[in-house]
Order: sequence, then structure tokens, then C-alpha cells
Amino acid sequence: MKVAVLGGGQLAQMMALAGTPLGMSFTFLDPAPDAPAGSLGRHVRSGFEDPEGLDAIGQWADVVTWDFENVPAASARRLAHQVAVYPPPRSLEVSQDRVVEKEFLRSLGIPVPAFAPVDSNESLRRAVEAIGTPSVLKTRRFGYDGKGQRLVRAAGEAEEAWRELARQPAVLEAFVPFTRELSVVAVRGREGAVVAYPLVENEHGEGILRLTRAPAPGLTPRLQHRAEDYVGRMLAALDYVGVLALELFQVDGVDGGLLANEFAPRVHNSGHWTIEGAGTSQFENHLRAVAGLPLGTLDPVDCSAMVNLIGTVPETAPLLALPGTHLHLYGKKPRPGRKLGHVTVLGRTEAERESRLREVLARL
Ligand code: AMP
Repeated sequence: MKVAVLGGGQLAQMMALAGTPLGMSFTFLDPAPDAPAGSLGRHVRSGFEDPEGLDAIGQWADVVTWDFENVPAASARRLAHQVAVYPPPRSLEVSQDRVVEKEFLRSLGIPVPAFAPVDSNESLRRAVEAIGTPSVLKTRRFGYDGKGQRLVRAAGEAEEAWRELARQPAVLEAFVPFTRELSVVAVRGREGAVVAYPLVENEHGEGILRLTRAPAPGLTPRLQHRAEDYVGRMLAALDYVGVLALELFQVDGVDGGLLANEFAPRVHNSGHWTIEGAGTSQFENHLRAVAGLPLGTLDPVDCSAMVNLIGTVPETAPLLALPGTHLHLYGKKPRPGRKLGHVTVLGRTEAERESRLREVLARL
């Protein structure tokens, strides 16, 4: 099975590491000469909108997928005329625009924070009136890792916040006083079978994911059921194939306790723990799904945690000396705010996971 991936970052790298033992071979389309996945297959160095590069992978591949959500949807659609493309290109169009995304979620009965689109001084004024403060102003497109958003503490700050976002089309959303952030990673096969990993708890710093605990401490079957219900509706509505991640806020006083923040139509950083912490990783299951193979069982292995290595790589030997600890380095050049790798910690109990996690964090 020949798999082409739009994007050659660490997610593509981990896909290739999962798919190679299944007999898959990989081509990555990525303009970066040092794309992390480059050494694990053929690397086509072209832009994501370059027809020559796209046609080259389209002719070679049995199936095309991607590792980042800002893939130009038109490129995915172009490829879909020549070759199987999964997930469906529509999932890119929906997730790339925060207003379309929230309208989609709301149309499925999935609660989202109150929001209003902003594209003029007048609509900004109306949005502030309708949503109130504190609120969060976010660009509709191309935001990631907390980039492209401003907290609006009082009505008087709204105009400046929008100026700081270069007056791009935006959305104002209510600030959510969440108790914690959760996410659910789920996968749907070509025949419509769905499996969802347990809800995980995510800690962010400066808008970037720092730490994931799996399963989320204190997870109840009821909360898991609610999250699976939401993500199941999304997968069905999109006729989705592959892994999808839904990011959620846990909030008191909301029906079901969950508000949807956003989704990613791809494998997700909050699912990295599944490499060691589940019977089948999100990467393997994504590939099984897009290749039309049976999905693998999840069988979470007790408790895990995943810590992102951001900006600098720590000394590796002291980490590897810790029990139940696994290291993944992506081979990227260090730069502030850049995800360079991650550490997974396993424990038989939450208490063991926590004590091992403390040891890991002390060495970073
Ligand atoms: P996003 O890019 O939308 O995932 O936002 C990045 C992070 O900002 C989230 O993971 C939250 O920690 C925080 N955040 C985003 N939207 C809101 C909101 N409406 N209320 C409170 N915090 C938010």
C-alpha cells in the first residue's frame, strides 16, 4: 500500500513509523528540505499548491492523507479526482474557518461557546454587545497553538485587539471559565466502524499543549459517553475516514458538562500517548482506516502521560534511566516555542503515573 502524506512533520514521521511494519511505503510532500519525515520515505519537495508536486504524488499513491489541517482544501480536492483521499476534503474546509466550524458543531447539537463573526467595525461593536466580556477574539483562519487570538477583557479593548490581529476576518467568542481542557481522539473506518480513545486531560501554556494525562483523571463513563456521542455525530456528518480529534472545555453548569472548542481532521498531539499507552496507536489506526483495513483495538494500558519537549531538547540519558518512560525526538532544529519531541510516561496506577511524571518534569 502506497501512502502519500501532505506534510512531512512529526505527525507524518510517526505515521510512517507505524505504517512501515504494516507493509506500507510513504511519500511526503513538503517544501521544507529538512522535513522530519523525509528520511522515512520519498520526499517530494514542492509547495502544497504546486500542481506538478500534487500530480506526482497523486499518480504514485494508492491513498493520500495529511498531517496538518491547513492543507489547501483545493489541493486535496484536486488529488481526489485522481486517487483516494482521506479524510474527506470537506473536513478541511469546515475546520479551517472557525465560524464555519462552530456553525457545523452547533448544527449537530454539539454545544459551543457563544460566538459572533467580526469583519467590520460595526460587526465588532455588535459582537461585543452580544457576547460581552471577557471574551476571546480569534482570526477565522490560520490560527494554531494560541496564535491569532487576543483576550478582550473589557469592551474598550476590542478595537485594539482586532487591530493587533491585522483586522483579519475574526470571531469573537465568550471566555469559557472551564475547569479543565479535555480532548477525544476517535477513528472511523471506510466501512463506518468507529472507535474512540478515552478522554484525556490537556494542560496548555502560552497556547501550546504541554501535558496530556490519559485517561483524564476522574473520568466517568457518562462523560466519556457524551464525548463519544459528539465526536460520533461529527464523523457521521462528514462521512469521515481516519482519525479526528475534538478539543473540549469541561465546564460546570453546561448540559453534559462539555463545550466544544475546535477539531482537527488529523492525528493529534493529545493522542501521542497511544503509541505506548494503547493497544493500537492513533497513527496505526489512522493508516488502517485510510487504507480500508480493520481498525485495531484500543485496550488502553493503565495510565499514561505525555509531555511535549518545546524549544529545547533535554539531556536524554537521565530521562531514559527512569522506569516506564519513552522518548520521541523529531529531529527538528531547536527554536523557542517549537515542538521538538515528547516523552510518554506509563504507570500501573494514577499514583505511579504521577510520581513518574514528577521525575520526568524535574529533568526537563
Ligand atoms: P485554540 O487555538 O482555539 O485551541 O485556543 C488555544 C487555547 O486558548 C485553548 O486551548 C484554551 O486554553 C484557550 N482558549 C481558547 N478559547 C477560549 C475561550 N473561549 N475561553 C477560554 N479559553 C480559551
